[in-house]
Amino acid sequence: DSRFLAGSPQLQKKCPGYFMIGSCENGHRYAKELYCDREWCPECGEKWSEAHQRRYSRLLPKAQQLKVMGYFVIERPLKSRGKLRSKKALAREGITIRAVLSGKWEISQRRRRGERISKEQELQIRAGWFPRGITRWHYFGDVAREIREDLKCLTWGRERPETSQDGQGRRYNPHQNVMVDYGFIVPGKLERIKRSLRAALGEPDLIVHYGFTKEPAAMVHVLKYVTRATFRDWMWAPDVAADLYKFHNVRSWG
Ligand SMILES: [Zn+2]
Ligand SMILES: [Zn+2]
Repeated sequence: DSRFLAGSPQLQKKCPGYFMIGSCENGHRYAKELYCDREWCPECGEKWSEAHQRRYSRLLPKAQQLKVMGYFVIERPLKSRGKLRSKKALAREGITIRAVLSGKWEISQRRRRGERISKEQELQIRAGWFPRGITRWHYFGDVAREIREDLKCLTWGRERPETSQDGQGRRYNPHQNVMVDYGFIVPGKLERIKRSLRAALGEPDLIVHYGFTKEPAAMVHVLKYVTRATFRDWMWAPDVAADLYKFHNVRSWG
């Protein structure tokens, strides 16, 4: 239970910690501040904290290469969200999402059906997907609200965002953020993407949102938004928090 977990150093740790990097001849010692980077840390979880800025600046060079930014938010419906309560499940889900969006999944599906696919065809198939992308999980948040209020600067599809939540921002709601090098997606292609994600993840009711922008300021906003902490209190989902130790949240391909 959570009282037992509260003793775990993974959940509560003094932050920032210090790391001695040297001393001068007068005996002054120099220390470097070490931030724990845990989302529920009162220091690191803050908006625009050292940890947040560090996550943001690590991705900035990649984002600055984009002429246009496409942004997927992928979430399971309430009924199957419970499947993502472990580090292993989150990692596996992320791998599958990246495989679909990079075209790798289509290639392996077609090979499984007995099709022979040459290296050249492989490149052709991949060209129909996204050559580059960055993913990061948010653990909490009402996605429909986020899109309506916080991410207005993007162009979203005409259909209203599907409701994913019952307005309970503190209910565990892992959703994968994906930034890609792409703008407007024609409806037929977007449908094919949704179908593939649903089949690959075995969830016919998977919720997939897509928006895009050409404005550098909006891209910066999305990057800040995606890299922010959402798991602000480990008590919101103690089992997940305890399991997330050393989880590598940001991943990319291409
Ligand atoms: Zn910290
Ligand atoms: Zn979110």
